[in-house]
Amino acid sequence: MTTSVDTALIQSLDSAHFLHPFTDFKDLSSRGARVITRAEGIYVWDSEGHQILDAMSGLWCVNVGYGRKALADAAHAQMMTLPYYNSFFQTTNVPAVQLAARLASLAPAVGDRSFQHVFYSSSGSESNDSNVRMVRRYWDLLGQPRRKVIIGRINGYHGSTMAGASLGGMSGMHAQGDLPIPNITHIEQPYYFENAIPGESREEFGVRAAGWLEAKILEVGPDKVAAFIAEPLQGAGGVIIPPSTYWPEIQRIVDKYGILLISDEVICAFGRLGHWFGYEKFGYKPDLVTFAKAVTSGYVPLGGVMVGNRVAQVLIEQGGEFNHGYTYSGHPVACAVAMANLDIMEAEQLPQKVCGDIGAYFAQRYAELNDHPLVAHAETCGFVGGLVLVKNKKTLERFHADDGVGMVCRGHCFGNGLIMRAVGDRMIIAPPLVMTKTDIDELMRLIHLALDRTLVDLKARGLV
Ligand SMILES: *Cc1c(COP(=O)(O)O)cnc(C)c1O
Repeated sequence: MTTSVDTALIQSLDSAHFLHPFTDFKDLSSRGARVITRAEGIYVWDSEGHQILDAMSGLWCVNVGYGRKALADAAHAQMMTLPYYNSFFQTTNVPAVQLAARLASLAPAVGDRSFQHVFYSSSGSESNDSNVRMVRRYWDLLGQPRRKVIIGRINGYHGSTMAGASLGGMSGMHAQGDLPIPNITHIEQPYYFENAIPGESREEFGVRAAGWLEAKILEVGPDKVAAFIAEPLQGAGGVIIPPSTYWPEIQRIVDKYGILLISDEVICAFGRLGHWFGYEKFGYKPDLVTFAKAVTSGYVPLGGVMVGNRVAQVLIEQGGEFNHGYTYSGHPVACAVAMANLDIMEAEQLPQKVCGDIGAYFAQRYAELNDHPLVAHAETCGFVGGLVLVKNKKTLERFHADDGVGMVCRGHCFGNGLIMRAVGDRMIIAPPLVMTKTDIDELMRLIHLALDRTLVDLKARGLV
């Protein structure tokens, strides 16, 4: 399919009318946005005909790759049958029910926790707003209304609504909205490279980092803490993979104080870490599990919360009416597309691929980046990868934030047909789960090329 687009016209209308998310409007307007016009498999194309390997799966969501006709067919068929109906007034719809039952069957029980119920929204942010509502309602119903405080993590990401941005720990977001809202507080992240004490092993650091949760609970007062929220591994924060000792210690602490555990799996669910859900990978027992993004592989918006038995029982048995929900909760088209998406993931065994052969090959090839003169701590978990660009490999001296090395590298990636995201001095990827070994080889070739060109640039600027 060829797409002919007047790039200059679209760019000028774009800057005249479209305020982009997380964007410096004036700066973008002066450059002109890149116009993405079509996509197929693991590639996207821009209006100038450039082919770009999308190693970010859109925004961590296009797990089954682009151009999947089955998803378009599912949307079309559902739109022709029942495009929309609400589920507020004692009505339901077939795809929403089928999907809820299927998600319940995919989410494994762990210990005394099981997941039989789903609360739907249309995004990750909204789902985390719903989490706040459910957590507070839960403690109110149990006669402990003092339990209001939710603890998140610095550099965690839980979305961009008032509650989502508050639960997250992004200082730039807090600064622009008088956030966090009351009763949300944060602990430091388990980022070994940045927060470990010299000589401390990863395992020692993991236990110490989890201990910050206990310290915070004691500081707030154990009878005032409602829940702890965290991503299995931090995505938007720069692919921060916690040490293996971190989650078991977190579990011990939340159990000790009886607080709820919210696992924000908007990135980590649906095969990304080689399992249907991220908590399986790290072996902990959440009470609420946030999902969105890859549940539909991003083809249409859908999000929700897997509500574990501990919370569901109280809300159902003792709750009466729950005064919360969205026009699009259980949207039939979104749920039908999710069903078709899960069909593909099951038929192609994508989670199994990620925790099997292909995942191992990806991990091995990605680790080779550690040989590059600019790179430290290149590591993967499932199909996400992160690395730090360093000034000096031996001393691990870092660049200054003003050097903008991540953006330089990202520019070279785009320049030679690769989308890799920069988060400060970290470069990160989350490729589609349908990558073959040949695709991984091509991905690695493009990353090496971008790193080499970045090195030439930084040398020319006297930075290395
Ligand atoms: C993307 C993301 C969100 C927010 O999802 P939206 O659909 O953008 O609202 C929340 N949590 C995590 C972990 C995410 O990665």
